[in-house]
Amino acid sequence: MRCYCVMHHGQPLEPVDKDTPVPQGSEVLVKVKAAGLCHTDLHLWEGHYDLGGGKKLMLADRGIRPPLTLSHEIVGEVVGGAGAPFGQTVLVHPWIGCGECAACKRGEENICIKPQSLGVVRPGGFAEYVVVPHARYLVAIDGLDAAEAAPLACAGVTTYSALKKFGARITTDPLVIIGAGGLGLMAIEVLKAMGGQGAIVVDIDPAKREAALKAGALVAIDAKAPDAAAQVQAAANGGARAVLDLVGATPTVTLALAACARGGHIVVCGLMGGDITLSLPVIPMRPLTIQGSYVGTLGELRELVAIVQRTSMKAIPVQRRPMAEVNAAMQALIAGKVVGRTILVP
Ligand SMILES: [Zn+2]
Ligand SMILES: [Zn+2]
Repeated sequence: MRCYCVMHHGQPLEPVDKDTPVPQGSEVLVKVKAAGLCHTDLHLWEGHYDLGGGKKLMLADRGIRPPLTLSHEIVGEVVGGAGAPFGQTVLVHPWIGCGECAACKRGEENICIKPQSLGVVRPGGFAEYVVVPHARYLVAIDGLDAAEAAPLACAGVTTYSALKKFGARITTDPLVIIGAGGLGLMAIEVLKAMGGQGAIVVDIDPAKREAALKAGALVAIDAKAPDAAAQVQAAANGGARAVLDLVGATPTVTLALAACARGGHIVVCGLMGGDITLSLPVIPMRPLTIQGSYVGTLGELRELVAIVQRTSMKAIPVQRRPMAEVNAAMQALIAGKVVGRTILVP
């Protein structure tokens, strides 16, 4: 089978032909129909995360080394494996754990101490076939389009899991969403499906603000405006009660802190990197909740797919490209030229 692999960090992915895997034990073989390209793929390709202050988190220190087959947003057809639902089109839950640590036993495989995530640790979807360790990671997507369903495995479950962390306040107050890329547009749709009050979207790119308004955002604010925080506060009736930062960079978290009302809740999902200095008395005195959220659980992905199937939730815009164009697709994402999600198709 052909796959497109990171052979050296920062160098173009290379087409590699290898033997089609034969599923062993509980494994399932899935023939890829659609594979999403996510910002995380860019970090994996670069080989590091920016921790701020000149520090970097090197993926090699976590055992993640080339050759790597990226893409963790995978939809495909089950073509092999004992007891697998042969012929079914499925979305694959990629956030797989060791199955043995305390987090895995709680059903939170996404925060396992020895993650086995597809497209990160194990080979992912930029290939003709993917091996999934067990059929329980397959989610049936009857009635959904393969390319439109693929982003649910990362952009979808990441925003759904983050939105759940705000509790009931998203139904009584507008939610500030920082970043209107694939995750931001997904967050607008999931928020609607969860009965949210609506979204105040912040982004530096006019095309992305436009897309957010088209998707139903209440207002879209230019993050580069000198009074951006004041504009957010005004739109949020004096101060934000809930802020979802999908960028996770020094300027965005700074903006989130400035825009919050007393009692505000910030959830950071983005991994762009950087750092902040925070006066500690501010946390109890304002009082603030600053919380992280990392992808989501298998249970949350099943809930989300059920919501999409049950409601009129719109899919985020997807641009289908042949898998052979993966390098050009990555360059477009790096240049900030992608509205919604790029989906590579074999
Ligand atoms: Zn585990
Ligand atoms: Zn992702």
